[in-house]
Amino acid sequence: MMDVDVDVVVVGAGPTGLMLAGELAQAGIRTLLMERRPEPSAMAKAGGLAGQILQLLHYRGELDRFRETSSGPEPAPRFPFGGLHLDFTQLGDSPMRAMLLPQPQLEGRLAERAIERGVDVRRGHEVVGLHQDDDAVTVEVRGPEGPYEVVAHFLAGCDGGRSRVRDLAGIPFAGTSLPEIERLASVTVPDPVTVLADGSLDVRGVGTIPFGYTATERGVFACSGMGGTLGVYTAEVEATEYDDDVPMTVAELSASVSRVIGIDLPLGEPLRMTRFGYSAKQADTYREGRVFLAGDAAHLFPAGGVAVNAGMLDAANLAWKLAGSVQGWAPPGLLDTYSDERRAAAERTLLHTRAQVALRRGYGPGGEALRALFLELTADEQPLRRLGALMAGTDVGAPVSEAHPLVGTFATDRALHVDHEDPRSAGMLRKGRPVLLDLADDAGLREVAGEWAGRVEVVSATIDERPADALLIRQDALIAWAAAINEPGETTLPALREALTTWFGARPGGKPPTGSGSESLR
Ligand SMILES: Cc1cc2nc3c(=O)[nH]c(=O)nc-3n(C[C@H](O)[C@H](O)[C@H](O)COP(=O)(O)OP(=O)(O)OC[C@H]3O[C@@H](n4cnc5c(N)ncnc54)[C@H](O)[C@@H]3O)c2cc1C
Repeated sequence: MMDVDVDVVVVGAGPTGLMLAGELAQAGIRTLLMERRPEPSAMAKAGGLAGQILQLLHYRGELDRFRETSSGPEPAPRFPFGGLHLDFTQLGDSPMRAMLLPQPQLEGRLAERAIERGVDVRRGHEVVGLHQDDDAVTVEVRGPEGPYEVVAHFLAGCDGGRSRVRDLAGIPFAGTSLPEIERLASVTVPDPVTVLADGSLDVRGVGTIPFGYTATERGVFACSGMGGTLGVYTAEVEATEYDDDVPMTVAELSASVSRVIGIDLPLGEPLRMTRFGYSAKQADTYREGRVFLAGDAAHLFPAGGVAVNAGMLDAANLAWKLAGSVQGWAPPGLLDTYSDERRAAAERTLLHTRAQVALRRGYGPGGEALRALFLELTADEQPLRRLGALMAGTDVGAPVSEAHPLVGTFATDRALHVDHEDPRSAGMLRKGRPVLLDLADDAGLREVAGEWAGRVEVVSATIDERPADALLIRQDALIAWAAAINEPGETTLPALREALTTWFGARPGGKPPTGSGSESLR
């Protein structure tokens, strides 16, 4: 490989770029993170983390670090879905979980993590151009001291929905944008409003406003009173374009409520105010040569609560593949699997977020009937589980594997048959390396994985009802290979060797030292 200034330039210090930079640095990759803003953004965008990323952070042994910064107790597993609330409490092992963690605090923790691992974070440095050839990518930067260039093996554009990197790489961003604005706010409860026990509101001079969603010809309104605060939501078709950096005001929200339901709803002091537009878009490819896209730069979803999860999972998928390419062990074609896998995952997210918009928009008797029927259907376990997995980003539309049904799926509590956040799996992927999880005390399998020592970890565990004799779990928690229960060594040993070669490259030279890379969670 040619001489470069750094291995990877990451553009954008949002949740995606920060996660990616931290993962790369953990793998020993020299990483430079460029952020055009001189200071971190204080904009309250996402209110928390939800979905599969929480499970991945648990496997990394980092969940507590994020939980320490959480702004409240873990929310009950009830989530908004297309103008309804899906109640996962009946499932016990809900596929969809969340942590309250406002985006500025999340980014703060992710930045700390990246810096601790050695990432060079440059704020106030804007990427304005790039060109690439077979050997490297040259990045043009406008910094506080003037323009300069950086040469790297790879560049990752995590620079948000209006991505400059995407434009510079000439990657089309197809999809729909509609003139619809959603507003979501939390305010103090003002004097004329009394919150009733079921969360509905009694408004002096107006009457009762029921808890939940109301669809009108003009748009959608929802309210809820809880813990001394008033939650208010509106969605309406409106041609105005808003700048994400310009905060919403109480007056703006009040005018929207009045347009949608024709009521002057008294509102208290703002606690959290956000607004977002409707976009359902996905980049045609997430890779153009040495340039990659991740997060909002790669996809925009038209319903809330899932984008940060998707972006951070992109980062986890991309990081180890870039690391393998820089370090020279990546098998041919590995880098291309990033775009294929994460585009397929984003298609699943687009499917349910687009459907949510249709569900919440329907008004009048037809719309009411659709929502009522949807609630009836989701009272049953199987559809509720499927929707939960979609929302969590765990359902990535992987083809059903002939080898084993778990291959191509995420390792989750449910896949592993363990309780939520089972301490035995905390930190299982702590080193950011793949793991052979030996569940049947199989010395033969451990020995084969040991041939990849330094690149692959071996972890042994006992689980009451094991889903497989062994699982090969990638750095991003996707299951790459599985040994069926009591499957004989004559088939498992060559199959494991093949899976290790397919994903983690040819066996490293030399015999590994005894016991190297092996530990026990028992
Ligand atoms: C009001 C609002 C509420 C939201 N609520 C939720 C929610 O509840 N749950 C959820 O999951 N998602 C939510 N989202 C979406 C979520 O905020 C985004 O999906 C998330 O920020 C995307 O992260 P990212 O890192 O991919 O991009 P961004 O967070 O957009 O970060 C991109 C970064 O790149 C920088 N940048 C851009 N161009 C350049 C350049 N040329 N050079 C250097 N730096 C550059 C930008 O300054 C920015 O810091 C919300 C969004 C909004 C607007």
